[in-house]
Amino acid sequence: MYHINEIFYSLQGEGFHTGRAAVFVRFAGCNLRCPFCDTDFSHSEPMTAEQIAERVLAFSTQPDTLIVLTGGEPSLQADEALLEALHRHGQLITMETNGTHPVPETIDWITVSPKPDSEVVLTKASEVKVVYTGQTAEEFQQWRQRIQAEHYYLQPCSCSNTEEVVAFVLAHPEWRLSLQTHKHIHIA
Ligand code: SF4
Repeated sequence: MYHINEIFYSLQGEGFHTGRAAVFVRFAGCNLRCPFCDTDFSHSEPMTAEQIAERVLAFSTQPDTLIVLTGGEPSLQADEALLEALHRHGQLITMETNGTHPVPETIDWITVSPKPDSEVVLTKASEVKVVYTGQTAEEFQQWRQRIQAEHYYLQPCSCSNTEEVVAFVLAHPEWRLSLQTHKHIHIA
């Protein structure tokens, strides 16, 4: 059984796939406790891989729809059996992880969002997305050296410090701005 907080259909609001239709599978529980976390950990539903796949595919079976495994920390629960059940219609399966735990090999797209003072074990990703909470340029440079990725994003913390992030990206153009667009347009 997997412990699922919610499954819903919306637009991917952040990072490389911003704007794409996506079914989100939000796993309950996380091994970190970030002060800016906006996940509701208070409830979860036990579900089998088949039940999750049925719920996801009821929203969309179109190949251009993303499936986003998120949390909480999805890598603590998602495994190859679940990936196999979800891959039936050829949709891209992405995972948003804090990078502290290995991920299944058949994930198509990995977004690592490293958190302060955590032990990141992933060294490769499709994209790295760091929430800006006042870190130094040296700290960001360390993430680039530790995690090899195709894209590197900096994101304001809950839309609160966008001007600082814009200034940082102007000075360090190897990073790109990622906005939580779903919050700006008030969708889930
Ligand atoms: S890693 Fe993500 S889900 Fe876990 S506590 Fe931090 S912000 Fe919340």
